[in-house]
Amino acid sequence: MNAQLSHLVQLQHVDLKIHQLDVQRQKIPKRISEARLPLDQAQTRLEELKALIEKVTAERRSGEQDLEDHESHVKKLRTRLMELKTNKEYQAHLFEIDLANKKKDSMEERILLAMERGEEKQKELEEVQKLVDEITQSFTQEKTQLEAQIIELDQELEVLNAKKQDVLPLLDKPVHTRYTTLKATLKVMVVAPVREGTCGGCQLQVPPQLIAEVKRADQLLTCPYCFRILYAEDSPVAVPEYSTAPKKR
Ligand SMILES: [Zn+2]
Repeated sequence: MNAQLSHLVQLQHVDLKIHQLDVQRQKIPKRISEARLPLDQAQTRLEELKALIEKVTAERRSGEQDLEDHESHVKKLRTRLMELKTNKEYQAHLFEIDLANKKKDSMEERILLAMERGEEKQKELEEVQKLVDEITQSFTQEKTQLEAQIIELDQELEVLNAKKQDVLPLLDKPVHTRYTTLKATLKVMVVAPVREGTCGGCQLQVPPQLIAEVKRADQLLTCPYCFRILYAEDSPVAVPEYSTAPKKR
């Protein structure tokens, strides 16, 4: 195989691997925020419950204050009862006290309801708090794993980019320019294998005459449709050699 073509094929394998790892790496932040979703939901519920408990507590306190005021009012009514002279006045006043007592019952009921509601919400709050603690733990674990993956991918990418920098200077200047120009438009695949008569880049049928020339591999040939540089995949020289293992530091 033409040495330049061989370098290009090697470069292409590195570029493809870089692209593949880049895609994986870019997905990780989204995976982290997706993993955080159940935790966010549980925390929102926790805040809602806290606000609710505060509201119910305020409701209970105001009920207790009202009751206290009412009780002192009733006390005054009872004191006045002793001062009344006529039976008519006395009866009317008794009626007023009776009404006041009924009002007291409904006030006590309001307080009781607020207390029950508060206890209920407090119980739910404890359950949700427990859930938040559990989810926090599992989320932290997952996040740590995903962040470790980022570090690992970065190390692999560093090795691949270094490998690329080793291969690039091996290209003749016109080949280098051609590679750079094609890469600017085609992004990932610049050098395409010919497989079963089709271009591995655009998947279109390559003319048989061109296939024969590609197999000879003595010059750089391009696909007539997508302009990628072609190589015969079964060519033994085209097997790239590089390691993605991170460098020892
Ligand atoms: Zn093509």
